[in-house]
Amino acid sequence: AELDTLDLIVLGAILLGTIAYFTKGTLWGVVKDPYASSFAANAGQKPGRTRNFIEKMDETNKNCIVFYGSQTGTAEDYASRLAKEGKSRFGLNTMVADLEDYDYENLDEFPSDKIVMFVLATYGEGEPTDNAVEFYEAIRSDDVSFTNGSSLENLKYVAFGLGNNTYEHYNSVVRRIDETLTKLGATRIGAAGEGDDGAGTMEEDFLAWKDPMWAALAESMGLEEREAIYEPTFAIVDRDNLTAQSEEVYLGEPNKNYLQGTPKGPYNAQNPHTAEVAESRELFNSKDRSCIHMEIDISGSNLSYQTGDHIAVWPSNAGYQVDLFLKALGLTDKRNNVISIKALEPTAKVPFPTPTTYDAIARYHMEICAPVSRQMISTLAPFSPTEKIKTEMTRLGNDKEYFHEKTGHSFYNIAQFLTVLGEGATWDKIPFSAFIEGLNKLQPRYYSISSSSLVQPKKVAITAVVETQALPSQDAPFRGVATHYIAALADKQNKGAKSDAYDLTYQIAGPRSRHTGTHLPVHIRHSNFKLPSDPSRPIIMVGPGTGVAPFRAFVQERAKQAQDGAEVGKTLLFFGSRNAKEDYLYESEWAEYKKILGDKFELVTAFSRDTAKKVYVQHRLKEKGEEVHELLQKKALFYVCGDAARMAREVNTTLAQIIAEYRKVTPTKADEVVKSMRAANQYQEDVW
Ligand code: FAD
Repeated sequence: AELDTLDLIVLGAILLGTIAYFTKGTLWGVVKDPYASSFAANAGQKPGRTRNFIEKMDETNKNCIVFYGSQTGTAEDYASRLAKEGKSRFGLNTMVADLEDYDYENLDEFPSDKIVMFVLATYGEGEPTDNAVEFYEAIRSDDVSFTNGSSLENLKYVAFGLGNNTYEHYNSVVRRIDETLTKLGATRIGAAGEGDDGAGTMEEDFLAWKDPMWAALAESMGLEEREAIYEPTFAIVDRDNLTAQSEEVYLGEPNKNYLQGTPKGPYNAQNPHTAEVAESRELFNSKDRSCIHMEIDISGSNLSYQTGDHIAVWPSNAGYQVDLFLKALGLTDKRNNVISIKALEPTAKVPFPTPTTYDAIARYHMEICAPVSRQMISTLAPFSPTEKIKTEMTRLGNDKEYFHEKTGHSFYNIAQFLTVLGEGATWDKIPFSAFIEGLNKLQPRYYSISSSSLVQPKKVAITAVVETQALPSQDAPFRGVATHYIAALADKQNKGAKSDAYDLTYQIAGPRSRHTGTHLPVHIRHSNFKLPSDPSRPIIMVGPGTGVAPFRAFVQERAKQAQDGAEVGKTLLFFGSRNAKEDYLYESEWAEYKKILGDKFELVTAFSRDTAKKVYVQHRLKEKGEEVHELLQKKALFYVCGDAARMAREVNTTLAQIIAEYRKVTPTKADEVVKSMRAANQYQEDVW
């Protein structure tokens, strides 16, 4: 097919994006035009779309812009909520903006009677999210300069960060941006907020931060608070001339090429590849958990991977959840009606393609199974079916303690919550726009690839534990969105051995039932979690549970290298699980690798429930302290994968203890050694 102009622009943008990705933006830092500002214009820009945010704000009459740096959608969601609230409570003219959509050389021209908000997630080892990299690096560069060469003394901003305290560089992105802006002369209004995913308090941290921030902002800008009036951002337009069968109606297809039945690469985070599932099997299935090994065929796509990368799985919601959601809203009869969504504001983006149906929106585009948020309850309160329910909703929305008492352990998603609270009444007064604004976009889930690209370059393996949690207050257990979708696919492929457990009415054949086999939409994300290029270098890996996924890939790769005649260094793996009989992942495979690698491969196991005293990987690591120490002296790389909250921290502590003991240094010095190992990439983490 011929490439049209749009294709060329898109290809150009992708090429530039790819260069930016692989150079991590350093091209902008190194290749300097002395006359240019340090913020390069993005050459892949769409025609007619300005990258000048001040101009954009003027054109659309805005006085508040909320920038987000988001990886998984939470920061973006918070940004939308701030924009919404600024408008409804204070009459601010707000807009939400993706950091990568604009240039920042004119930050010094930002008018002092307007406000910039930053909602910035910190990602991995203290890094900015992909869409924030360019801004982050440019503004922090030593020779940052602005159009007029002046300071940022006119710029007023507020800042909130999303981080995880189990990582060493907790919320470092917001901290550094805040510090930099202040240094450049800008004025922060209110405190810089920090949300902690590690402690599970992100939402409450956000709520606790924003009220004093609004008060400070109102004072600084002379804003008057008014009674919050809900104004929809999107209009729902009935398309009575179309039916769900009409060919221009999106039934879950992510873009036009998919709609026309001719998906086209390049495939990436904006355009998933619907890959065939080559094979799948259950690694174990015990009474409350199961684990699936799935091999995904990426041949025939532009996708490629390297050992240690991640694959993103694009799930869809289970039919019974879609049913419940539509029922709570009184939309069951209209589920297949065709609607278009129109943004009522020039700066708002409709988050999925239309015309579409309510069914497709709930099934493919909205995170309808996520825990219900307190702020959402406040927004919906005025649309309650009765006055009594409205009073209760208002109280739940305003009272943190009461909200937790009522919803704390029940895993209510929005539909379950509305169903329980509504006592059978339908919530048909809620404008549908409130859900488009208030619920997250359905997010892809990441998996550490558990196969080696050397062994199987076109087949990506994942190792996923199916998330199920029995709930005393409800008939059905909580079921993880992506992992049950994966389980349902595996079940279909293996001819329904478990169909009673997984019969959750997924649309397994995809929109318009286009797939006859078993398919899964995916894209690949490259990571820095990598084997040493020299196979003779020793490695130490700590990966309990599904944390073993990338290490299966590492060992598989080293076995292949050994078979091919390479000298392979010591390959020491610590694996842990509940007990040897129930959930010992890849038990028989390790024996195969051992046959090939001999003494070079050593597997140390910790089964926490096999002994009276719980034994975890960090205990085994300690027992093997001397060997670990010796391997580190031989420049071994140290890898940790799996649970970020506890395990990764314990392992870090244990390694420092080993270093202190065997190198005979103080604990403080040992901590420094571990830090420098991290800085030098000798200590690598892949944790979630
Ligand atoms: P979700 O539906 O997203 O639920 C996840 C959790 O969120 C639940 O367990 C629960 O605690 C909470 N939650 C969700 N909804 C509610 C609610 N209504 N009320 C209260 N709480 C709720 N996983 C693996 O199994 N193997 C891997 O190799 C792997 N690698 C990863 C690598 C990376 C880089 C990352 C970031 C994650 C990785 N994960 C891996 C985790 C994986 O991405 C998913 O998070 C996991 O599979 C659960 O997804 P899910 O959609 O099934 O669960």
